[in-house]
Amino acid sequence: MLSTKHGKLIFFIIFLFILFLLPTPRLKLLDGVTGLPVEGYKIKIPPVAYILEPFVGTSQYFWRSTNFRFQTLSWLAWIVIFYLLFNLKRRVNLLKELRGLFKVIISFTLICLFITLAPLPKYSLQPESSEEILVDLHSHTTYSHEGIATPEENIRWHLAHGFDVWAITDHPRTLEGARRAKEIAKEKYPQAVIITGQEVKCYTGKQGENFLLLGIDEVVDERKYGREIAKVTHLVHEKYKGAVIVPHWWRKKFHTLEKLANSGVDGFEIYTARVLGPEESIREAIKNVCQKNNLIMIGSSNWHGWGSASHIWTSVHIENWSNLNNKEREEAIVTALRNRKTNLFKVILYDRIEPQNRLRYLFEPFVGMFYYFSSLNSPQLLSWIIWSIIFYFLLYLIRIRPIFLNLAVIGIALLLFSKGVIFLNLWVRYLEYNETLFVLGNILLFSGALLLIMAILPLVHKKLQVTSNK
Ligand SMILES: [Zn+2]
Repeated sequence: MLSTKHGKLIFFIIFLFILFLLPTPRLKLLDGVTGLPVEGYKIKIPPVAYILEPFVGTSQYFWRSTNFRFQTLSWLAWIVIFYLLFNLKRRVNLLKELRGLFKVIISFTLICLFITLAPLPKYSLQPESSEEILVDLHSHTTYSHEGIATPEENIRWHLAHGFDVWAITDHPRTLEGARRAKEIAKEKYPQAVIITGQEVKCYTGKQGENFLLLGIDEVVDERKYGREIAKVTHLVHEKYKGAVIVPHWWRKKFHTLEKLANSGVDGFEIYTARVLGPEESIREAIKNVCQKNNLIMIGSSNWHGWGSASHIWTSVHIENWSNLNNKEREEAIVTALRNRKTNLFKVILYDRIEPQNRLRYLFEPFVGMFYYFSSLNSPQLLSWIIWSIIFYFLLYLIRIRPIFLNLAVIGIALLLFSKGVIFLNLWVRYLEYNETLFVLGNILLFSGALLLIMAILPLVHKKLQVTSNK
């Protein structure tokens, strides 16, 4: 009796159990260079992250993906295919069909917005030794044209992930984000050590290679140097006693790795969250050049405020750390970079080995779900079961009282609206630097308005019908 009535729910829970029992590797702390498990660190998962696992896990899955644009498109395509398969048989009313499809696409977009903007609990890393220092040498604030996190949000995000030191590397030509963050840190977060940096692009024509200039104290106008990278690295090394790192080289591959290594750069990113990851062969090529030329390899967040979770840390061994003041700590990291103390650096990932190739992306929902669900631990599985029951009964409630759906949509619309207002308000403060806050704020206002109309119009329509029938 029960099994027929709640068949879908029970089927889903059994499906979760079967995947859970499969011997798929769980997420582990891995050495980013060797790919092997790493000792001496602990991942700390806050209890609230277990409670919210379906939300946290979805966001983690999304941001760990190496080609999230393609993977998201794959999800959308499969959802549309399944929707059409299940509905076309039953109905032939094209208008109704299109309306249904429109609602499916809107729901999908809302999930994407949630993953991109919701502040979710974070996993933090904890080294066992007090001389292993966690650093992130590449991050942004609202002073970058597409950054949506304020300097203070940047600080809180890094502290929540367990970072001791991080660089703010806004682009194109400003150090304001780092300066502002340092002021705030001095007042409210004395443990935060922030390195002043700048991300520049050395151009010829429209093409250019990105560089992270770390430990500088003046804006560097890279336009003066064109494509003469050696002049930029020389300036940063000699004048500022700083260091130069090449971020996400695989995105443009503008210069050869050898040319960059010979131009005086101190190292390369081999992992960057939020930038489509390099294919394994390209990562190998970067590692080879670094090993051959004794250059530093780092993994960084490149966090602009989009998405809440990170799974990449760089660990640096610095002796006597607890006796250094913040200024000395900042210098210790930059000096280790500039002096290319490669043996002090380690890239640490909280990840698992999964196939990453075009075939996977084509069938992403199946492959992704398989890896995600089969790697859950028992509290996470329990969380999924409880949330499936909650969602199941919410859907049931909506079916018997459709007004609840309208109310939920009105709630979401108001949330989008207020987020939109917040972003537009921020945009006014960062007018000179930022372009994205304006666009994002308007998109949120527009989607809020659209949802509001969609939720209220049917209610008004019904009310009119009722009064006209009287
Ligand atoms: Zn960047």
